[in-house]
Amino acid sequence: MRGGCRRSALAALSAALGDLGTVNRWRKKVVSVDGSECWWWTGAISGRGHGRFYFAPGRVIISHRFAFGLVHGAQVLDRVRVLGHRCGNQLCQRSTLSTWWPRRMRRTGGSGLRGGS
Ligand SMILES: [Zn+2]
Repeated sequence: MRGGCRRSALAALSAALGDLGTVNRWRKKVVSVDGSECWWWTGAISGRGHGRFYFAPGRVIISHRFAFGLVHGAQVLDRVRVLGHRCGNQLCQRSTLSTWWPRRMRRTGGSGLRGGS
């Protein structure tokens, strides 16, 4: 193994995030609903209840991670291990409602993670 697999996956994701056709394909599967702040995923759903999005042939990503990548970029996304939903809705694609923390950082009581509104 040359270990290049992960890097090429990141490169493929990075390309997908910058590709208008791919992004539009993702957007078409996302709907907003009256009375809900969430952006609902209407595409394929994994056994664990998360949206699945094929961003390239044979490459699948959890759809709200793709949403996060659209806002923050593939490099930041790559460092994020857990990407939760502040609203508790696993199908929500609205990344502003997601909470996240980098792999190496521990949550030490919440300071710094929730910017004041
Ligand atoms: Zn939501």
